[in-house]
Amino acid sequence: MHPLLDETHELVRKSAAEFAEREIDPFVKNMENYEYPRDLLRDMGKLGLLAPMGPIDYGGPGLDFRSEILTVEEVAKHSPGVATILEIQGSLIVDTLATYGNNAIKEKYLSKAISGETIISYALSEPCCGSDAAALESVARRERGEWVLNGHKMWITSGMNADAYLVFARTGPKEERHKSITAFMVDRNKCVETSPIHVIGLRGTGTAEVKFVDCELGDDAVVGEVNKGFYVAINSLNLGRTCVGSIGLGIAERAMREAISYIKQRSAFGRSLADFQVLQHYVANMYAQTESVRSLVYSAAYMRDKSLPDFLLYAHSAKLLGSRLGVESTRVAIQMMGGMGLSTDNVLEMLYRDAKVTEIYEGANEIILNTIYRFMEK
Ligand SMILES: Cc1cc2nc3c(=O)[nH]c(=O)nc-3n(C[C@H](O)[C@H](O)[C@H](O)COP(=O)(O)OP(=O)(O)OC[C@H]3O[C@@H](n4cnc5c(N)ncnc54)[C@H](O)[C@@H]3O)c2cc1C
Repeated sequence: MHPLLDETHELVRKSAAEFAEREIDPFVKNMENYEYPRDLLRDMGKLGLLAPMGPIDYGGPGLDFRSEILTVEEVAKHSPGVATILEIQGSLIVDTLATYGNNAIKEKYLSKAISGETIISYALSEPCCGSDAAALESVARRERGEWVLNGHKMWITSGMNADAYLVFARTGPKEERHKSITAFMVDRNKCVETSPIHVIGLRGTGTAEVKFVDCELGDDAVVGEVNKGFYVAINSLNLGRTCVGSIGLGIAERAMREAISYIKQRSAFGRSLADFQVLQHYVANMYAQTESVRSLVYSAAYMRDKSLPDFLLYAHSAKLLGSRLGVESTRVAIQMMGGMGLSTDNVLEMLYRDAKVTEIYEGANEIILNTIYRFMEK
C-alpha cells in the first residue's frame, strides 16, 4: 500500500477498478463511436463513484480527495473519457456547489449530481479565450429584477448531454477582467443551444459548443457572490488539475502493462522481445517515471485533505507532469509494439489520442508553468 493511503483508500480503488473492468471496458467502443455513457454515469452514481467527495447530507459518500484521485486513476486506465466526465462532475461541479452554492442550489442540484441523475457541465472557455479566461465575453445583465444571460461557450465536456451548466459570465465592465465575473447555474431549456465538436481524443464525452440566448435567471442561480465567480472557477480548477494528473497516471500505468505483456509474448531474431535490453530500459524508465508522478499526485491530494499550503504548487505540478507522462508513456508503449501498437483494435491508440488532450484542457501546460512559477515566487 502506498504510504499516503490507508485501507479505505484501497477499498475505493478496488471498487473503482472492478467497476471499470466490468462495466466501462465493454462500453469503450461505443464511446469511440461518439456515444455518451449516460447509463454508466448513473450506475457510478449509485455506487458513490461519480462524486466520492459528495457530502453525506446530500447522499454522497463524504470521502476525501485521495479517494477521488484514486477513482479517477482507476477509471482512466480503461477510459480517460469517462474519467474526465467524472472528475468534472465530482471536483469541478459537486465540490464547487457544496462549497459555494446557496441553500436553493444545494437542494436543487447536489443529491442529483452525486447520484448521476443530473449531469452538469462546467462552462468557462469561450471562442475568444481559453487560457485568458478573465477576458471572457459572455454577459449577464440585470433586467427587471432578473439576470439575463447571453454567451457562447466552447469545448464544453458533456455539453451535448448535460442537464444543467455552471456558467461563468461577465457582470461588470470588461476592463475589470476577473473582478467582474459571476458564476451561475443554468438549466438546460429552450435558451440553451448545443452543437457537437469532435477532437482528436476523448470521444463520447459530449464535447460541445454551447450558446445561451436570453436565459432568464433569478438571484438564486448565482453561485458564490456576484463578481466573485473567477475565484469559484480557479478554486475548482485546483482540484480538477490534480485529477488531470491522475488521469495521466492511469493512462501511463495501463500503457506500461500493455507493453510489458506484449513484449513477453512476441519474439524476433529468435528471442523474446523482452530479452532486448533496450526494451527493458523503456519499461524501467516508464516504471520510474510513473512512480514519481504517483508520489506527486498522491502528495497533492494528501495536502488538500490536510489543508496544507503547498497544495496549489503540487496540484499544478501534478497536472503538468501527469499529462506529460500519459503522452510519453503511450508513445513509448506504441513504439514497443510496432505496427500492433498503432492498430485501432489496440487500446494504446485511443490512450495516445486521449493523453494529448490532457496537456491542453483545464489549463494548457504553458499556463500551468506560468502558475507554478508565480506560486514559487510567493
Ligand atoms: C476535449 C476538451 C474538453 C474541454 N472541456 C472543457 C470544459 O468542460 N469546460 C471548459 O470551460 N473548457 C473546456 N476545454 C477548454 C480548455 O480548457 C481550453 O482549450 C484550454 O484552456 C486552452 O484554451 P484555448 O484552447 O483557448 O487555447 P489558447 O488560450 O488560445 O492557447 C493556445 C496556445 O497558446 C498558449 N498560451 C496562451 N497564453 C499564453 C501565455 N500567457 N503564456 C504562454 N503560452 C500561452 C497556450 O498554452 C496554448 O499552447 C476543453 C478543451 C478540450 C480540447
